[in-house]
Amino acid sequence: MHIIHNPLHHLHAGRHEMFRGRLVPCHETPERLDHVMAELQRRPLGTLRGPDEIDVDLLARIHSRRYLDFLAGAWDEWIALDPANAEIDVLPAVWPVRGFRSDVLPESFAARIGLFSFDAGSPLTAGTWAAAKSGAACAITAAREVMNAAGANRSAFALTRPPGHHAGADFFGGYCFLNNSALAAQTLLDSGLERVAVLDVDYHHGNGTQSIFYERRDVLTVSLHGDPRTEYPFFLGHADERGAGDGEGFNLNLPLPYGSSFATWRAALQQAITAVRNHGAQAVVVALGVDTFEGDPISGFGLRTADYLSLGQDIATLDLPTVFVFEGGYAVAEVGINTVNVLEGFLG
Ligand SMILES: [Zn+2]
Repeated sequence: MHIIHNPLHHLHAGRHEMFRGRLVPCHETPERLDHVMAELQRRPLGTLRGPDEIDVDLLARIHSRRYLDFLAGAWDEWIALDPANAEIDVLPAVWPVRGFRSDVLPESFAARIGLFSFDAGSPLTAGTWAAAKSGAACAITAAREVMNAAGANRSAFALTRPPGHHAGADFFGGYCFLNNSALAAQTLLDSGLERVAVLDVDYHHGNGTQSIFYERRDVLTVSLHGDPRTEYPFFLGHADERGAGDGEGFNLNLPLPYGSSFATWRAALQQAITAVRNHGAQAVVVALGVDTFEGDPISGFGLRTADYLSLGQDIATLDLPTVFVFEGGYAVAEVGINTVNVLEGFLG
């Protein structure tokens, strides 16, 4: 397995997020990735390297230009407002909901950061753009490695943060800024494939990935997650969202109740795997969050550490070129072992 890690991930280290009514220390921390790296040193599963340099234009295959321009310049704008802002992360506080306009780009920085986001849980910091861009390069590099590889090497892992699956074409949120899984899927298509799938096993619905591909049939999006009636991101992820236009029938959501056990979850995974197979996918991108773990502080499924080996084994039954992309998982001390268990199970 080719493992592409983000050497700049630590540049994105938010101080606080708005969580259940108060500012709390961020759940999405650099230590998460460090634990995966440490576990990969204990249990080496393949070659480990940083990403290739990529052209920023590739990001525009998935994200809007005005959003990318905003992200690239946001920190400088924030400091220009007041040099003292260097000590404060940026969090949005006002959003254009139904009936408001999003076609007019406001001059106000506070308004623009609201336009390009959907929550106040995702602090934008001095290093966010550099870390996210390098992470996107990891996902693109991982997809290219899979396309260039043969045999048992037809798998790669983009080990990066900040995560990506909540980020849409022109918004951030849910700790995510650039949609790494979507970029990996697009890279597979741009490399010559015609049909791919994104299988999202993070606890939370992959709302960004769904919205990016919702009207397309070349990318099947499948997500199993906590029921949005009670679980973040709340406003997307229901079972009746099946895609639209050309993409009708090419989105599958498998919401499960808070508290679901591994047996329940695994039955849904089988449904997801069947859908990927029926799509005729030539490769699969796995949005690999391990916040399904029973000890996760912000989630509610009951998976145990050994279950992640089975998860990897089940995904391997697809027998497809596979790009794993690291997403959520906030029981920090266990994130490494659970993540590497998936990869080890997959490799057999
Ligand atoms: Zn998650």
